[in-house]
Amino acid sequence: KNGPVVGRRFESTAAASDASSPPAEKFEYQAEVSRLMDLIVNSLYSNKDVFLRELISNASDALDKLRFLSVTDPQLLTDGVDLDIRIQADKDNGIITITDTGIGMTRQELVDCLGTIAQSGTAKFLKALKESKDAGADSNLIGQFGVGFYSAFLVSERVEVSTKSPKSDKQYVWEGEANSSSYTIREETDPAKLIPRGTRLTLYLKHDDKGFAHPERIQKLVKNYSLFVSFPIYTWQEKG
Ligand code: ADP
Ligand code: MG
Repeated sequence: KNGPVVGRRFESTAAASDASSPPAEKFEYQAEVSRLMDLIVNSLYSNKDVFLRELISNASDALDKLRFLSVTDPQLLTDGVDLDIRIQADKDNGIITITDTGIGMTRQELVDCLGTIAQSGTAKFLKALKESKDAGADSNLIGQFGVGFYSAFLVSERVEVSTKSPKSDKQYVWEGEANSSSYTIREETDPAKLIPRGTRLTLYLKHDDKGFAHPERIQKLVKNYSLFVSFPIYTWQEKG
């Protein structure tokens, strides 16, 4: 019923880092997303580890989509790239990366999927939120409905989504911060960060949540969720 809402581009920022790379573009979140982000970032919700379940389920969905499309288009299965999920934890720096070799997102899909609320679970969440007058209900609702991708901000200060869709020959990076009403998208130009297909999420954990980057903690959580995922999930520790 609702067509895709295109994020409003309101500013073009010159890339400070590298003159040869195209500039990052800044977008404002749809108002509902801003509200949701505020709520997630400021909530007292204690069961923060749901973030991993949400992000693994997105990775699994992306792999499912690729597998489904590859039935009619076998070319989509890039040679030598398995369908899997890899989770890496760098406990010294408080960074978690979650990489899938699924369908990825185009630049426009990044705007449509991670800048607006298109999905039903989150829409229901906001509706329930509007109807609840109960203080303290907010955090209960987070657990009840799940807040999808944005649950990354339960534990992250900054989130980077680097993604490559088979529909595009370019890889793009979406970047959002916990206390911001805008996000940016730029082209991935660092050759070391290019992936053959799929999505890599990098979570820069909040100071108080860096403990989530402990491999043992991740492995324990993954063990619970992986029962519902039909793709292998690999976890390992950053060498150091
Ligand atoms: P839902 O999974 O219920 O649709 P989410 O907030 O979890 O809602 O994710 C929003 C959308 O972002 C997904 O529907 C999907 O289109 C896109 N997305 C999120 N993570 C990934 C991923 N790892 N790979 C490809 N697309 C993704
Ligand atoms: Mg989801």
